[in-house]
Amino acid sequence: MHIHDLIGIGFGPSNIALAITLDEKQQQGSRTDFFFIERQPGFAWHANMMLDNAHMQISFLKDLATLRNPSSHFTFINYLHQKRRLQDFINLKTFFPSRHEFNDYLAWAAGHFDDRCAYGEEVFEILPEQHAGQVTHLRVRTRNPQGVVRERAARNLVVSVGGTPNIPECFRALENDKRIFHSNSYLSTIAQRENARKIAVVGAGQSASEIFMDLHHRFPDSRVDLIMRGRSIKPSDDSPFVNEIFNTDFTDFVFSRPAPERSALIEEFWHTNYAAPDLVLIEQIFNVLYQQKVTGNLRHRFLRRHEVAAAHAAPDGIRLTLRDLNTATEYAVAYDAIVLATGYTHDRHRILLGALAPYLGDFTVNREYRIQSTPDFQPAIFLQGACESSHGLSDTLLSVTAVRTDEIGQTLLDVIHQSLAQRMRTQYAPLPISEAL
Ligand SMILES: Cc1cc2nc3c(=O)[nH]c(=O)nc-3n(C[C@H](O)[C@H](O)[C@H](O)COP(=O)(O)OP(=O)(O)OC[C@H]3O[C@@H](n4cnc5c(N)ncnc54)[C@H](O)[C@@H]3O)c2cc1C
Repeated sequence: MHIHDLIGIGFGPSNIALAITLDEKQQQGSRTDFFFIERQPGFAWHANMMLDNAHMQISFLKDLATLRNPSSHFTFINYLHQKRRLQDFINLKTFFPSRHEFNDYLAWAAGHFDDRCAYGEEVFEILPEQHAGQVTHLRVRTRNPQGVVRERAARNLVVSVGGTPNIPECFRALENDKRIFHSNSYLSTIAQRENARKIAVVGAGQSASEIFMDLHHRFPDSRVDLIMRGRSIKPSDDSPFVNEIFNTDFTDFVFSRPAPERSALIEEFWHTNYAAPDLVLIEQIFNVLYQQKVTGNLRHRFLRRHEVAAAHAAPDGIRLTLRDLNTATEYAVAYDAIVLATGYTHDRHRILLGALAPYLGDFTVNREYRIQSTPDFQPAIFLQGACESSHGLSDTLLSVTAVRTDEIGQTLLDVIHQSLAQRMRTQYAPLPISEAL
């Protein structure tokens, strides 16, 4: 079986940026045989949250390449130029393109690597391949929607699989009930729930807010309860000094701190990224609720300081037991549909790399995002988007993507060269005298 220098799992922004970095390094003379595997049938960026008025929450200058190489072919500005929209975009006077446009930019960039990516295959297992007591490379096993299993081999791996929908404990037993779904599948599922009249949205972040507004317009006869533990919806703080935590050199600072200090930093700035919608969106929601007071048609409710204590499925609806945290009282409400805008976890690599766990310990990464391994394990495995606790809040976002892929790319090239030199030494080592005779 052919052995690739690198297989990247997932072909979202993180690995597209890596493909670009490696491609540009290749143009400077280094040869790398890299390949990516993506489970979606084609490129799509959070397709189920591609809502009509959604905008980027980050400057377009933090695209796939600019911070690493502003003269790259793959900058957002060059994409606009190629699409003949650069001047029109300038006239928009914004740093924050629509999510539709950014998705189109990412798809344009991904399209340059169609011969280096297998779409429609999900990696489900990675196995160690041993030679003379050493794990020398990895067997990457995929399955397509028809159940066909395929195997490829790689000397190194980059795992960039994004987040896994976070389902709160009280909903886990009802995961197969189509009336409850995560924001991750919002658009494809809500289209099948046209008759839903009473809908709950659980969450306090950008997705919860966007979905509340979408439901308000999508189903004019619906009644929507927005349920959150917090007392108010707080806006994301993107003021300049706070935004410095997303600068690339802040990653060095976070990584250099002892673990308790890193945790304190993440806690201090948690609201820059989590449970923090854009101010404009918060104002839109406030306006909707205010207009209800004017008309007296109290269609939607803002259930602040509430948490879901229990959820039960009945034929005529999902019954939620809601706990009012102000009064410590509980009451029940039935809903036709429940949207869980409850965020994501970023630990799927632990399952994917499960068979390698004996070599990888507790999956600790170094500054270059490489998982530390035992001495008998040669492959380098890198993580993108799963290192928030060690590298800071920018890790799951686009903020440092371009620069991070340079750090990973350079380390990878060093590993590849070392491993090549090692293989050459083994191949051409002088034979022992007895064998030479
Ligand atoms: C709705 C939404 C809006 C966002 N907006 C912003 C924003 O404006 N600014 C910002 O900085 N961040 C934003 N984010 C954060 C987001 O995580 C990053 O923008 C970005 O998507 C991270 O890229 P990634 O490649 O690491 O992960 P992803 O984009 O999640 O890509 C991972 C890819 O891996 C694939 N995959 C997963 N498992 C497997 C497997 N086993 N085998 C093969 N393929 C697999 C997935 O299908 C996916 O394509 C947003 C997130 C969401 C959910």
